[in-house]
Amino acid sequence: MRTVDIVLGRDDTAAHGKEMLGLAKQLAGDHEKIRILFPVGCNADIQEQLAPLSSELVFFTHTQVSAYSYEGILSMLWDFWAKETPGTVLMPDSGFWRSVAPALAFKLKGVYGAAIRDIRQDGKGTSFGRHAWSGRRMVWLRMEISPVVLTIPAGCFASASPMNDPASIRFFSPRPPAEKVSFEGEEAGGGAAVGLRDARIVLAAGRGIEKPATLDVVRQLGEWLPGSLIAGSRPVCDNGWIPYDRQIGETGADVAPELYMALGVSGASQHLSGMKRSGFVVVINREKTAPFFQHADIGIVEDLNLFLAVLLEQLDG
Ligand SMILES: Cc1cc2nc3c(=O)[nH]c(=O)nc-3n(C[C@H](O)[C@H](O)[C@H](O)COP(=O)(O)OP(=O)(O)OC[C@H]3O[C@@H](n4cnc5c(N)ncnc54)[C@H](O)[C@@H]3O)c2cc1C
Repeated sequence: MRTVDIVLGRDDTAAHGKEMLGLAKQLAGDHEKIRILFPVGCNADIQEQLAPLSSELVFFTHTQVSAYSYEGILSMLWDFWAKETPGTVLMPDSGFWRSVAPALAFKLKGVYGAAIRDIRQDGKGTSFGRHAWSGRRMVWLRMEISPVVLTIPAGCFASASPMNDPASIRFFSPRPPAEKVSFEGEEAGGGAAVGLRDARIVLAAGRGIEKPATLDVVRQLGEWLPGSLIAGSRPVCDNGWIPYDRQIGETGADVAPELYMALGVSGASQHLSGMKRSGFVVVINREKTAPFFQHADIGIVEDLNLFLAVLLEQLDG
């Protein structure tokens, strides 16, 4: 039986998994099964949330080196699919899976489609839509080869609804990969993006902060907002003021916080695509024509330095 396989990693969220399941249900034929593969385990509640929406959950038992290297992940998935070739493979459109997906498509003698945002289905089959020219064009591709390995950005497809029967659970023990890479232990890293996708509040700094010192003031605001994390637009990362793993947008992270504060961010489409699932959006910008105001629940036309100074003065009482 052919399958639609979704591959998720430890940092991937249940919300993104549900959207990929929504797509999988559109792609799966009557005789296709939908499986979710967890080659490196998953976070605590994801299994509970995704089990009612798929046919099977497969957990890989692995050595540490398998889980921590691209070679290890490739080797494990390859071992799994050597016996059970998938029809379609869906992976989150994150930096990690974008590194794995093309290699897998090549190994499976299939085809790779990056950042698929939409599909069209007609009598001839399925076409896949992805952005080109920085989102100004949507390109439609029909792939006449199988398997198809696709990466899927968050926020593009509707979540799946529950199946009649909850998923069965299976464990798979891959052969250990050739140990060309050895595991030397792990420790808390400097990876600033830890938790960004799960942050309740995001303080997004744009070029309007003008100088890195303004970030210290944004940090002071963050102290009043428990659960907040500082992130930013691409120019702020390009300037080296915040690390790239805190960049939000098309070539950065997708976030879905309860509160998103845009501090001197203009609201370019490439930035908006990473924050469009945010709950309440507050935009501060000195130009009233800034496009971000069209996506704001509260818009404040003000100089950012003045706004932050007055707000902190009020908070400090
Ligand atoms: C292929 C591609 C991918 C991209 N991916 C991303 C991405 O993932 N994420 C991303 O963010 N961008 C991305 N970009 C860049 C994107 O197009 C924009 O250039 C970028 O988002 C603009 O960042 P910004 O809003 O901080 O800066 P600007 O567009 O320069 O806006 C700064 C804003 O700050 C305001 N401002 C200035 N001074 C003050 C002040 N003192 N007080 C208040 N407001 C002030 C200005 O009015 C302005 O609106 C991408 C571009 C391309 C081509």
